[in-house]
Amino acid sequence: MRKPRILVIGSSNTDMIIKLGRIPQPGETILGGEFTTAAGGKGANQAVAAARAGGEVTFVARVGRDMFGEKAVAGFVQDDINVKHVTRDPVAPSGVALIFVAKDGENSIAVAGGANGRLSPSDVKKARAAIAGASVVVMQLETPLATVMAAAELAARAKVPIILNPAPARALPGKLLKLVSILTPNETEAELLTGIAVTNEATAAKAAKKLRARGVQTVILTLGARGAFVATASTEKLVPGFRVKAVDSTAAGDVFNGALAEALGEGRALLEAMRFANAAAAISVTRLGAQPSAPYRKEIELLLG
Ligand code: ADP
Repeated sequence: MRKPRILVIGSSNTDMIIKLGRIPQPGETILGGEFTTAAGGKGANQAVAAARAGGEVTFVARVGRDMFGEKAVAGFVQDDINVKHVTRDPVAPSGVALIFVAKDGENSIAVAGGANGRLSPSDVKKARAAIAGASVVVMQLETPLATVMAAAELAARAKVPIILNPAPARALPGKLLKLVSILTPNETEAELLTGIAVTNEATAAKAAKKLRARGVQTVILTLGARGAFVATASTEKLVPGFRVKAVDSTAAGDVFNGALAEALGEGRALLEAMRFANAAAAISVTRLGAQPSAPYRKEIELLLG
């Protein structure tokens, strides 16, 4: 089988995590923390998840000319991701997230998007041929909306299906929603987009209907441990999640989106693709970190049975 070509456009960040007794107050210094770094950023997480799930992935992104950017790109290369369209920004630093995690699990996070904020419509236009040749295009909202819009227009013109993960949550223009094949909000994002608090299957159906009325063809609402709910013109269905021991849900949504793109790119039917994505995401919540937690195809197949 030829691998599906998956084009991911989006952010790359380095997460710098200090675990300590409690989160420092303004003006306070606390000693004795433990430091780790992990590759993150929604776009990069989804690209890595799609590649490990079996896709031939091209990533369109911007990093800075610094050691964080170099390390991020080296990680993509290790996952066999095509980095031809990962630009080194001459001015802005790489995106970073500074994260404090307290003993009781509480966290405090500051993000400096840096080069991610300079991913431009012209970067996307340079990747025009890769977009037109892709089986599926995947995007999120940690890069400028004008860039997402430009990519959506190119993909739609080439009749390439678009998966948009509307995260982090923000209002979206109808013009963009009309170009999206599959929108994949979580409960919080669905509420922000529709004003409907999603708490169960009935409210998920209501929110999905509202989004479809705005022009999205298919809505897949991710519902944490419960799985994911899909609404199309002809189907409304909950695809249940896999039962696992959850350790860290960071990037569960990203792994879901990356794996979903792979499964759809392979030509799997929608419900089957969602089961594949649920399995990949379930494995990711049993492990720490963003990109480190994304499972490989063999592991996903083992859980699927
Ligand atoms: P996000 O990470 O964006 O908040 P969700 O929490 O909805 O998104 O999780 C995305 C997907 O990850 C779910 O649809 C499900 O497949 C999987 N998932 C999340 N949490 C769990 C869990 N505790 N057990 C099993 N699967 C989970």
